[in-house]
Amino acid sequence: MRRPSQTLTRMPRSGIREIFDLAHGIPDAIHLEVGEPDFPTPEHICQAAAEAAFAGFTHYTPNAGIPELREAIVGKLLERNDVDVEVDRVVVTTGAGGGLFTAIRALTDPGDGVLIPDPSWPNYAMMATVQELDVQYFPLRPEDGLVPTPEHIEPHLTERSRVLLVNSPGNPTGVVIHPETMRQLVDFAEANDLWLISDEVYDEMTFGRDHISALTMVPNGHVIGAFSFSKTYAMTGWRVGYVVATPEVASLITKCQEPISSCVNSPAQKAAVAALTGPQDAVAEMRSAYRERRDRATEILDAAGLPHAMPEGAFYLWVDVSGTGMSDIDFARKLVLDRQVAVVPGTAFGPTSGAYIRISLASALDDLVEGVRRTVAAVQEWAS
Ligand code: PLP
Repeated sequence: MRRPSQTLTRMPRSGIREIFDLAHGIPDAIHLEVGEPDFPTPEHICQAAAEAAFAGFTHYTPNAGIPELREAIVGKLLERNDVDVEVDRVVVTTGAGGGLFTAIRALTDPGDGVLIPDPSWPNYAMMATVQELDVQYFPLRPEDGLVPTPEHIEPHLTERSRVLLVNSPGNPTGVVIHPETMRQLVDFAEANDLWLISDEVYDEMTFGRDHISALTMVPNGHVIGAFSFSKTYAMTGWRVGYVVATPEVASLITKCQEPISSCVNSPAQKAAVAALTGPQDAVAEMRSAYRERRDRATEILDAAGLPHAMPEGAFYLWVDVSGTGMSDIDFARKLVLDRQVAVVPGTAFGPTSGAYIRISLASALDDLVEGVRRTVAAVQEWAS
C-alpha cells in the first residue's frame, strides 16, 4: 500500500505549537509561550539587506556562505567568544536550527544515539527522530541547579551514543554552565568517544555571569559550536546561523546543505554582515530589557513563594507548578482557556519535566507582569 513516512507520521508535533494554536483562538490572550524577541530587527541590518537586494545580490552563494560573512564571524568569535578559528571551520547555516540538523547528520548514521538534556529545546529530539536516531534523554536535576554533569549523563550512555548535546545559556532553564562544568563535559565526551555539540545561540544574552564557549577548551577537536543571529539581533525570521567544527566536519556540513537549501538566503547573509560589523547598541538594550523583565517577573514569583529557576541567560523562566497537583499540560490548557495566559507545558521539553511550565520573557513588560500575576493566582487557587 502506498503510504507516507511512518517516522514522520508517528513523530509528535512540538508541544509548544498546541498551546500556541489554542491561544491564537483567544483574541486577548497574553502570549508568554513564544520563544522569539518582541523587538524589531535593528534598522541598519534591514537596510543592508534591502540595499543588497536592490543591487542584484539575489542569487545563490557558496554553500558555506559568502566569504565576507564567514570572515566577520571569525572576527566575532575571536572578539566576543575568545575562540580563534580559521575561516574553513565556519559554515553559515539556515539558522542555528539548520546548523544543528546538518551537524547531527554529519556526525551520525541511522540507529546511532544522541544524548539530549531533559528539559531542552524540543527540536533536538525532533531532529534526532527525523534522522532515525535514538533519542537518549538525560535528566537535569533541580537539586543540582539544572546543570548537566557527567554523573547525570553516564547512566544513559550506550554503545550507540555518538553525540552529546549541551546548551548554554539554556532554553528553557536559563542556566549558564560554569567553566569547570563545561570542562568536565568536554572531557567526558572525549573519554567516551562522543562528539560534543554545544548550542550557544544565547551566547550574548546573559545577565551577570559570562557565557564560556566550549570551543575555547578544544580548539580543533570533538567540539562543534552552534550560533545564531536570531536571538542576539532579533532576527528569527531571517534564518541565519553558523556552526564551527573541524575542517573535515565543516566540509560534511557544507556538503549536507546542498541537497537541503544549497545556501542561506543571499540578502540575509548581507544583513548578517551588517549585524556583526555595525553598531551593537541594540544588543545591549535588548539584554537589559530581558534582565529587567526577569527581575520583575521573579519578584512576583518569589513574593508568592512559587519555586522557579533563576535564569542567568536566555529569556525564559522555568516555574514549578506541581503544587497544583495538575499535570503540566492540563495546567497550561486551563491557564490559557480560563485566564487567557499562554505558557508552555514542561513535557514539551522532555518526558520527565511535567512539574514545570516555561514562561517567556520575550514579551512587553506590562504583558509579562500581568501574565505572571494571573499564573500565580491560578496556581494558588488550583492548588490541591
Ligand atoms: N537553539 C535553541 C536552544 C533555541 O532556543 C533556538 C530557538 O528557539 C534555536 C537553537 C534555533 O535558533 P535559530 O532561529 O537560529 O534556528
